[in-house]
Amino acid sequence: MVKITVSAIKADIGSIGGHTRPSDELLQKVKEIISSKSEGLLIDHYIGYTGDDIHIIMTHTHGVNNNEIHKIAWDAFTEGTKIAKEQGLYGAGQDLLKDAFSGNVKGMGPGVAEIEMDERPSEVFCVFAADKTEPGAFNFPFWRMFVDTRSNTGILINEKLAEGVIFHVMDVLTGKIAELKLWADKPELEAALMYPGRYVVSSVFSSDHTEQILSSSTDRLHNIAGTYVGKDDPISIVRTQKNFPATEEAGSAFNNPHYVAGNTRGSHHMPLMPVKLNSPASINYAIPIVSCLVFSMHNGKLVGPHDGFGTVDWDLQRFWAAERAMIIRNQGFIHPATLVPDELEYNKGYEARMKKLDEKFR
Ligand SMILES: [Mg+2]
Repeated sequence: MVKITVSAIKADIGSIGGHTRPSDELLQKVKEIISSKSEGLLIDHYIGYTGDDIHIIMTHTHGVNNNEIHKIAWDAFTEGTKIAKEQGLYGAGQDLLKDAFSGNVKGMGPGVAEIEMDERPSEVFCVFAADKTEPGAFNFPFWRMFVDTRSNTGILINEKLAEGVIFHVMDVLTGKIAELKLWADKPELEAALMYPGRYVVSSVFSSDHTEQILSSSTDRLHNIAGTYVGKDDPISIVRTQKNFPATEEAGSAFNNPHYVAGNTRGSHHMPLMPVKLNSPASINYAIPIVSCLVFSMHNGKLVGPHDGFGTVDWDLQRFWAAERAMIIRNQGFIHPATLVPDELEYNKGYEARMKKLDEKFR
């Protein structure tokens, strides 16, 4: 059977009046480019946005890290950037860090999550796309999906999940990946997940390593560029149902808006708010947000996305997130409302203040 690959590639290439959302014309251009180049290459595709990040979801038979697949996403973002510049959008082309395509968008700015799979008869997956945060923002919900029985009863009553999964965790400073097998490596896995700014879940596999359940982007933009160029908002694909978490067990892992790094100036801890598809970022300090695209797929043809966080009950979580956001943001610049110095997006400004302060110590 031919393997199907799902590729989710995202970038911030400009938004209206700050870091809010892409313009309609910009989205239209990205859609046009993908449609015009999809012939003979893609089976299906979908394009949308979360805050200022545009995501391109593509299905095909060319495997992960494929040159041509990555190139059409790169071309769409490059052509889109021209519109963003014409319109004077804020941060036009900000996630495109290189001038020329070099075979793979990894390390060039856009975030990538990809899974090659033997498609199940009723293939189901969710794409989680976040904005105003950092790659490790999904550590806690991923732990809830695959490790925490209180969050997911499936870990107890589903034979496959009970066997435990295999986590791949990336050290974003060295780029090295640790393979951690449940349940033997649970304490070490949790030690890694403890600090999401340093260690990030990059993928999850079934206990026999035959099936990839999850893929998450792990690009750390300020390491790529050598200097800070924008918060590196994660995108992830999570396959659900049957031997994997139920769609509701994956979705509900986001029902307790936890504190993540991000927010205005990328310098604060704020809760991660579940939002509807194609939601702009809030101008109430840009609360970190995540949307959930739920797809069915058959022979690579997509049905959806269904809006995972669009049902009325999620208004409660949005309310909690807004309330938690105000509680910590009212603490202003005092840590832990703010990040530690190394994690500040405006680290240079902080260092300048500290230099002047140091001169006054005697
Ligand atoms: Mg963003």
